[in-house]
Amino acid sequence: NILGKGPDDPRLEELFLLDKQIGKGAFGVVRLARSKATAEPVAVKSISKAKLVCKEDVKDVQAEVAIMNLVAGHVNVVTLQSTHEDKDYVHIVMELCNGGELFDHIVEAQHLTERKAAQIFRKMVEVVNHCHELGVMHRDLKPENFLLTGKGADAELKLTDFGLSVFFKHNERFRDLVGSPYYVAPEVLRKNYGYEADMWSLGVILYILLSGLPPFWGDTEDQIFKMVLKGGIDFKSEPWPKVSDAAKDCVRKLLEMDPAKRATSEQILKHDWLVKEGVALTAEL
Ligand code: ADP
Ligand code: MG
Repeated sequence: NILGKGPDDPRLEELFLLDKQIGKGAFGVVRLARSKATAEPVAVKSISKAKLVCKEDVKDVQAEVAIMNLVAGHVNVVTLQSTHEDKDYVHIVMELCNGGELFDHIVEAQHLTERKAAQIFRKMVEVVNHCHELGVMHRDLKPENFLLTGKGADAELKLTDFGLSVFFKHNERFRDLVGSPYYVAPEVLRKNYGYEADMWSLGVILYILLSGLPPFWGDTEDQIFKMVLKGGIDFKSEPWPKVSDAAKDCVRKLLEMDPAKRATSEQILKHDWLVKEGVALTAEL
């Protein structure tokens, strides 16, 4: 029994009416559900125990739940409501984010205005700062893992998917090669990294928010990795000549090859560009 829950753990089906699938991941599916008691809609991530092949996989699920509990309470983190475990699954019941993935909105908009990018990005940096302060490295920051709570102007941005996250101590080094090709930091590819790797991923996200294109790309994973390891940022192609120097400086400080020189979340929150452009009136979002 993975979550260490007793036999009195109520079955998921007793408490929730399960509806359609709304997402899919490596270890299971995410479904829409409704609380029988309150009629409140929720999202349920069901992780198949059959797919947890080694001790590490089991530990990762335990860490995912523990970390979701720890970082909860920040406005930009998906709220964990409860967990349930049965013979075949671990179920994670979360607040429903009905507005879809930020990824889809970027694709739709091609790229965002600077002000809008700054307002969204500020929230991302704030939530990552919250995680880092609590000693949590996310390790899979990408637009697919930022969800929106609705479609309207007052929709809030929520970080989710702590499935690859870990607790870290200051100066602790990690070696597991995890993450997603476009967003992975060079030192992760060299298998010697710390929490600074999250800041690199934020730099990739910011580049995409401002231009609609990833800074490091290729037809295969290997080609992408080669570009990441080479570094260098293309600010010549469209729309970069029209983008402000302050925004470019922010990207540059995040896509810094040397993790020791890379900006921290605290520094980015004080960056001129975010201070000037990133303070949103909610109505503007
Ligand atoms: P994985 O670890 O397998 O990538 P995620 O936690 O990222 O799983 O969930 C997979 C997808 O399911 C997400 O990208 C998103 O589209 C959807 N999803 C996850 N959590 C929620 C939620 N709370 N509300 C709405 N959709 C969600
Ligand atoms: Mg995911």
